[in-house]
Amino acid sequence: MGNELVRSSFMECNFEGSIDTNEGLVEQLKQYGAIQSNKVAEVMKTINRALFVPEGSPAYVDSPMPIGYNATISAPHMHATCLELLKEHLQPGMRALDIGSGTGYLTACFALMVGPHGHAVGVEHIPELVASSISSIKKSAAASLLEDGVLSVHVGDGRLGWPELAPYDAIHVGAAAPEIPPALLEQLKPGGRMVIPVGSYFQDLKVVDKNPDGSISVHSATSVRYVPLTSRGTQLQGY
Ligand code: SAH
Repeated sequence: MGNELVRSSFMECNFEGSIDTNEGLVEQLKQYGAIQSNKVAEVMKTINRALFVPEGSPAYVDSPMPIGYNATISAPHMHATCLELLKEHLQPGMRALDIGSGTGYLTACFALMVGPHGHAVGVEHIPELVASSISSIKKSAAASLLEDGVLSVHVGDGRLGWPELAPYDAIHVGAAAPEIPPALLEQLKPGGRMVIPVGSYFQDLKVVDKNPDGSISVHSATSVRYVPLTSRGTQLQGY
């Protein structure tokens, strides 16, 4: 009986199987406190997660999902957390860099937030994931931004950033680095913010602020588990 009660409240919190719309997922994330602002709620409502998960995967469950190539799409609450941490640096006209862009879900959210006068750039080292992210984005609310070149996704080693459009107001890294890559620090604008998981097995989601005088402040937002930011060969071992 006691166990039943615990289990049923756990199930409610986990809402497994009970959410079947993108809007429902956003409402749940608001209730959890993962989404705290209208801005983040709006963008996560506008970009439908179902377009970005592999066919047959449950799109609205708050959990990471395999996307092939030893990679995963991050859990919705992690996408929400990163958008909340970066939202002041994703204002219209700003520049955002998404390293390890995977499915392209967050790159599309960034593009909607910075709008037609900004830039959102994804860098991903698996060419097949870049191709499928582009076809997902084409079906999404960010399609016109892709067409206009405001949103772009490139095959590359994200540890080197994307110097062509630097400096960036916001940098998100979707894979865990052993340490903060120097090229990314360099490509961050003074006043800009980077969110990056750092560590190997145990990782901290670090919030890295480049102050207007160029000095760096770092704090940890939460503990996380991401796939490693590594070489393509290492990632594909055993795949
Ligand atoms: N934010 C993405 C996360 C995908 S998982 C999403 O939610 O869809 C992390 C991604 O980082 C994987 O797609 C992986 O292929 C990529 N990655 C790992 N190391 C990389 C590197 N050195 N350069 C570019 N991408 C990398």
